[in-house]
Amino acid sequence: MTLTLVPPAPATVTPASAGPDPLGVLGVPGQVNLDHAASAPCARAAADAVAELLPWYASVHRGAGALSRRCTLAYERARQTVGDFFGARPDDHVVFTRNTTDALNLLARALPPGTTVVTFAGEHHANLLPWPRGSVRLPVPDSPAGAVRALDAALAELRRGATCGLPVLVAVTGASNVTGERWPVAELARVARRHAARIVVDAAQLAPHAPVDVAALDVDYLAVSGHKLYAPFGAGILLGRADWLDAAPPYLAGGGATSHVGAATHEVRWVTGPARHEGGTPNLLGAVALAAVCAALAGADRAALHADEQRLVDRLRDGLAALPGAVELRTFSPDAPRVGIVSFVLAGRDSAEVAAYLAREHDIGVRDGLFCAHPLARRLLAEAAARAGRDDLPPTALRASLGLGSTVADVNRLLAALAALT
Ligand code: PLP
Repeated sequence: MTLTLVPPAPATVTPASAGPDPLGVLGVPGQVNLDHAASAPCARAAADAVAELLPWYASVHRGAGALSRRCTLAYERARQTVGDFFGARPDDHVVFTRNTTDALNLLARALPPGTTVVTFAGEHHANLLPWPRGSVRLPVPDSPAGAVRALDAALAELRRGATCGLPVLVAVTGASNVTGERWPVAELARVARRHAARIVVDAAQLAPHAPVDVAALDVDYLAVSGHKLYAPFGAGILLGRADWLDAAPPYLAGGGATSHVGAATHEVRWVTGPARHEGGTPNLLGAVALAAVCAALAGADRAALHADEQRLVDRLRDGLAALPGAVELRTFSPDAPRVGIVSFVLAGRDSAEVAAYLAREHDIGVRDGLFCAHPLARRLLAEAAARAGRDDLPPTALRASLGLGSTVADVNRLLAALAALT
């Protein structure tokens, strides 16, 4: 399909008003980054923390020199800061990972034998694919209350079945990377608790937009990606109950994870604690960057940030609703709580071509595709076509995602660019 490229409509919109941005995220003038959900821009706090540490850069947990000791201290302080930020309890470990995918794979390898994992089909692949065979995948619910009811029924069924008495782990997202809709994490955690199951929350998309406290939510495990939380350098975390983690085989066998290695191949003593799963030289800069962002966000007025983001999301959704042929993807009702992520299609327009046009003609970065959540995205595309009563919706979608540093002008520029196509 070829696109007819029409020059963008003149600015019809209110002047840019950058919302409060306590992190001072970095960007390139002229480029509109509406792809925060893939990787958020770097926070000034993260860049500064890394720049300050770089002259001291040396090995972590492996050297006696002053530089090395400072780096070890910085790494362990980062662990403490990140743990405090997410409400870690005394019996939790904070394991540094590469990202959320890595964190969930780690947890999948740490499950006690016989564990059944229960998840929903609306998850990102990172929270679908690591789980063992025999996991229960519940259908995508049509409301947050429906999710709670479905989980309750599934866990009751498991307690009656052959796996009764064996561990159960519920694995859910905090906010969908496709629709931005928030999942009722606290309610799902209560249901899990009532059925003596554990729960892990994939907070890759929730953490950048809202406070997440494992103790307050009463969730057992949390997975987060630093690069979606304004901290580049590839660090994430798995935070949660120490017992399963300390009993599990090391996720990365190697130096740092052992206290003794003998001559015979089987003669190995693995340490307990986060180091058990962090074999090899750790990502110091990633950990420090993530901690710097957590410290900056801990001092920020997140309610104000949330309100500001909601205004932008509302504007984006209202603008899309007014565009002929634009159809939003959603799982729940239109007024369900959400973060700054909106997926949509333009009827009769190939999404990849629209995304390329936005980049080429307007310096706007969005994402197109099925967003590593194929089962959900395909289902929502089919539902969107039925809701809109159209048979010309494309097979993939576009996603605009906002965050700190996003402005009204960014949203307006996107809407004007899309309007030129409709
Ligand atoms: N979970 C959700 C909800 C996501 O949106 C993503 C990434 O987009 C992931 C997990 C995986 O994150 P990462 O690629 O950082 O491992």
